[in-house]
Amino acid sequence: MGQQTAEICMLTITDFINILHRYYRSPMVQIYELEEHKIETWRGDSFQNVYLQYQDQCLISITPDASLFDAVYSLLKHKIHRLPVIDPESGNVLHILTHKRILKFLYIFGASVPKPCFLKMQIKDAGIGTFSDVATVSQTATVYDALSVFVERRVSALPVVDDSGKVVALYSRFDVINLAAQKTYNNLSMSMQEAVRRRRGYVEGVIKCYPDETLETAVDRIVKAEVHRLVLVDREDVVQGIISLSDLLQAIVLSPADSGFHCPIPTSHTSM
Ligand code: AMP
Repeated sequence: MGQQTAEICMLTITDFINILHRYYRSPMVQIYELEEHKIETWRGDSFQNVYLQYQDQCLISITPDASLFDAVYSLLKHKIHRLPVIDPESGNVLHILTHKRILKFLYIFGASVPKPCFLKMQIKDAGIGTFSDVATVSQTATVYDALSVFVERRVSALPVVDDSGKVVALYSRFDVINLAAQKTYNNLSMSMQEAVRRRRGYVEGVIKCYPDETLETAVDRIVKAEVHRLVLVDREDVVQGIISLSDLLQAIVLSPADSGFHCPIPTSHTSM
């Protein structure tokens, strides 16, 4: 694990959201000028607000000889979603680690590792995930409203809900990139319903889980669907919480090994 001083910068969707949100509100700058800006301008001293993540900090990175535990620890401690693996000799970025890649690795190779007992628990009893103060966005709200929530709260996705609180879609930070790809970022007053309908590769439905399902089922679903989180709903589809890869990795990897959480190694193959 290390703090890199070389001239490497991470520019992520979070930065794009911050910039878009800032510029859209500014009557002084036309949003179409965004495309003309250089990245160095965003980093420059002329702006008082911080646009780029970690502008004042060193890039958070890891070396190839660090352990997976170190990687998970770093991702969660710094609340980041991408961790560059940097060769200390050359300073080259060798790889970008994400929660998804790590969980998938554990899922595939985890058969030989002791399996945490709590995976057999029902979601409602395990206490793994966020169950209160869940940030959501109404389907009639605007994209700008959603961006405001992303800027104000450090959440990576928002369940899109109807008037009765039922989840109808999920809008993630990653979806915001569609605004750039489709050059629709001039129209942030578009409704969430419309934004969800327009996004590329749109598939109907949200990947959900229920309080009486086990965590093992949730892990299985999250890995197979290759998503970052499940929306926890009741039988009426009303949002109850979020279980994200951060929550699962925190519980599975960072729980102390001697906490008694681990079952004996299974003799037959299991998913984890
Ligand atoms: P993530 O950024 O998705 O890895 O999640 C970081 C933490 O934020 C986890 O504890 C999640 O359960 C929580 N979280 C994710 N999305 C939301 C949301 N929309 N509202 C409240 N908490 C959330």
